[in-house]
Amino acid sequence: MAMGVGLTVLRQGVVFGTTALRRRMLVSLEINNKDRSYEWFLPWMAQQTAKASHAGPRSAPWTRSHQLSVETTVEQRKNGSSSIFFKLVAGPGIHYFKYRGAWMQVKRERETRSMQLMSGVPWETVTLTTLSRDRKLFPELLAEARDMAMKGHEGKLVIHTAWGTEWKPFGQPRRKRPLQSVVLEPGKAETIENDIKAFLERRQWYADRGIPYRRGYLLYGPPGSGKTSFIQALAGSLSYDICLLNLSERGLGDDKLNHLLSNAPERSFVLIEDVDAAFNKRVQTSEDGYQSSVTFSGFLNALDGVASGEERIIFMTTNHVERLDPALIRPGRVDMAELIDDATPLQARELFARFYGGVEGVTGLSNAEVKNLSDDLEKMVQEEMIVGKRVSMAALQGLFIRSDAREALTSCRDLFVTR
Ligand code: ADP
Repeated sequence: MAMGVGLTVLRQGVVFGTTALRRRMLVSLEINNKDRSYEWFLPWMAQQTAKASHAGPRSAPWTRSHQLSVETTVEQRKNGSSSIFFKLVAGPGIHYFKYRGAWMQVKRERETRSMQLMSGVPWETVTLTTLSRDRKLFPELLAEARDMAMKGHEGKLVIHTAWGTEWKPFGQPRRKRPLQSVVLEPGKAETIENDIKAFLERRQWYADRGIPYRRGYLLYGPPGSGKTSFIQALAGSLSYDICLLNLSERGLGDDKLNHLLSNAPERSFVLIEDVDAAFNKRVQTSEDGYQSSVTFSGFLNALDGVASGEERIIFMTTNHVERLDPALIRPGRVDMAELIDDATPLQARELFARFYGGVEGVTGLSNAEVKNLSDDLEKMVQEEMIVGKRVSMAALQGLFIRSDAREALTSCRDLFVTR
């Protein structure tokens, strides 16, 4: 009996001892898929293990994971063609890899029973375990993973869209559009750009006065005048992302909207297009009792939000400013409203010069000829404006893309419409 008791005590002692030892000697880091570093970590780890297995026979065979998952991305180009890429990352299970001489165990787990509310994505965690003395490697490794993810985004504009209550990058990051390629009335782009730059420099000023640190912009005017293009180019030039919010999306109720607006990713503009089109005066509820559309008062509440120190920049666009409720255009909701109009004579001229000017000979025209033709175009826009006719910048761009300079000038008259 004494031996039995002795053995039990010994066994418990061993269990206790190993747990204590584990606690003292090992350190774990948990990353769950709600955190942004989750997306960064898996591709980074895939690269680490790939490096190790290319290192030759000396690398341990278990650096090569046996359970893999695939992440497929589709890159859609403007001209309609697309490419598909596969990325192999560690699948659920246990994997090992070596980082700066230290072994790391990676356990990827998926919670199958519960889903994330709204987005329906299963919960996942990755737990990294290593020796306690190597704990300082965790922040380094995360920073490396972040830098690797960000490198692909450098010089690119990332667009996020709402997935349930979460923001997710939409498609591949796009090439940034140079700000000067959007030709606005002289001074207009600078006015908006200077305003936002001044805002970004005044974080402390707002904090000292207890004012919520946010700014709202409304760009209004006819379609095809460059509102969206300008906002995207501006975001790119300031290295901001865009969060595209569609207020008329089915299933988006006041609560979700509020959540989305207060949880936009850092360094991003929230872009709400056609803000006039979105509202139902009455609350619509679907069969299961969920409110499935945004109400105007809900929208105003979400814009006002709770006072928080976090930065929030909202851009709204509309083609019909006259349809907007005056309650929306109030400081704190819309701090700056700018008209982005159809082509002025000068804008038309500049767009023309951007298309056909530049290096002499490329378009078969001398600089002097381009100048003459742009004079003619400028005059044409002036004449048409006098009789109440305008042309949109988008229509001009379309014409310039498909015709040579002289052709463009002869068929331009047909594009003017009465506004
Ligand atoms: P909006 O948002 O005002 O309806 P977009 O920005 O969507 O207009 O413009 C539609 C197309 O027309 C884009 O391809 C854009 O390049 C072109 N475009 C419109 N306005 C301008 C402009 N002011 N300068 C350069 N291109 C423009």
